[in-house]
Amino acid sequence: MKRICVYAGSNVGNSPEYAEKAKQLGEELASRGIELVYGGSKIGLMGILADAVLANGGKAIGIMPKGLFRGEMVHTGLSEFHEVGNMHERKALMAEMSDAFIALPGGIGTFEELFEMLSWSQLGIHQKPVGLLNVNQFYEPFYQMVDHAITAGFARESNKQLFVMDDEPTPLVEAMVGYTRPEMENKWKQLSE
Ligand code: AMP
Repeated sequence: MKRICVYAGSNVGNSPEYAEKAKQLGEELASRGIELVYGGSKIGLMGILADAVLANGGKAIGIMPKGLFRGEMVHTGLSEFHEVGNMHERKALMAEMSDAFIALPGGIGTFEELFEMLSWSQLGIHQKPVGLLNVNQFYEPFYQMVDHAITAGFARESNKQLFVMDDEPTPLVEAMVGYTRPEMENKWKQLSE
């Protein structure tokens, strides 16, 4: 696994645990020689993660859309920086460059990126692992929401195998390195009846 794309909050959250685990994830990536692909910001968990990668001799690649975020948010010390035309191009390039995806805790932006990669995996557009770093049980409601969709008949039980989840960076990255996406059953129940 050469590169992992990490989606992360552009805020740090209310508990020091979030920053601590973002830092540990950065150290973990650097120690394994796995390059970081991320949104290129220096603020929030995004910045903490990139700084931890760089401080430990790793490579951090930032991908930013032109003119959308204020200049002072841009991390100017990255190993590589790509400027793209818009959010769609940004997410496409992040996905293309990466062998796997991790979501740290975050807000709407993080959710959007996470759900896009899960949705693409479900459709077979990619077979790459998706991991959730469940710091402080942050992703528990997400898990319940997937369960809820399954109970209500909108998703398959197998959808839970599209991602791995752990509250610690080291076992999470290990699970992702060892992940093989299972063959998915037909998504559309009406077509298999
Ligand atoms: P959020 O979880 O709402 O804080 O948004 C975080 C995600 O949205 C990141 O993974 C980025 O891709 C994008 N994003 C939000 N704010 C910024 C920012 N200040 N700089 C760069 N990307 C950002």
